[in-house]
Amino acid sequence: MPVPSAYLWRAKLNQLFSLVLPQTCPLCQSFVKGTGLCPNCWHGLRPITAPHCQACGRPLAYAVLHSVCAPCLIKPFSARPIRSSYCYDDASKGLILPFKHADRLDIAPIMASMMAPHFKALATDADIVIPVPLHRTRFLRRRYNQSAELARWLVIHTKTEIDFAPQLLVRIKATPSMAGLSKDKRENNVRHAFRLAAPARKFLIADKHILLIDDVMTTGATINSCAQTLLAAGAGEVSALVFARVV
Ligand SMILES: [Zn+2]
Ligand SMILES: [Zn+2]
Repeated sequence: MPVPSAYLWRAKLNQLFSLVLPQTCPLCQSFVKGTGLCPNCWHGLRPITAPHCQACGRPLAYAVLHSVCAPCLIKPFSARPIRSSYCYDDASKGLILPFKHADRLDIAPIMASMMAPHFKALATDADIVIPVPLHRTRFLRRRYNQSAELARWLVIHTKTEIDFAPQLLVRIKATPSMAGLSKDKRENNVRHAFRLAAPARKFLIADKHILLIDDVMTTGATINSCAQTLLAAGAGEVSALVFARVV
């Protein structure tokens, strides 16, 4: 059963305020009817649509043989498939950065609802949803895990028959910000960065299909490390969904 969250209370308060106060677009602050983005900002985002790599979700200029991109043929990810709803660019950053770094929990339902179509498709085959965890020092500083807030909304609002298990996986290595690091350095940083919260509860994931949720994918090193940890602990399959990826 999903755990109650701070944002649920804020969402309820926002609902009450919206009855008396006009709502604004979180990107440009213009007034909008209801909640969400204004039409201009909506059109500024770049959704990832076909053709894309069937393995990692990377957008492709044209359909390719086997529908898998060259990097995936050389070194496949441990999570498969990986899907991303949007490209990571200035427009999507306008939602992600305040959500992640400025306590804008009111943006969680907007971003999560934009991930919902991909989530519904991936959740059909999955048993358990696990958000990519934060290290406890970062969690204490931020007071919430942005990936868990997205996952919680998706599980509740898409009414999917899937277990939500934000406590199963923990991050044991506090990694510094990885902005600007190469793919190899990122891989080194997150190697062995995760473990099951309670190894004695391995049976909970035995042969299960786990769906990982994260906000952003840059090189895929973090998702790969989570997937490797889960597969080594006995999970049957791991797939992943992110809001935006670097392309
Ligand atoms: Zn706008
Ligand atoms: Zn690929």
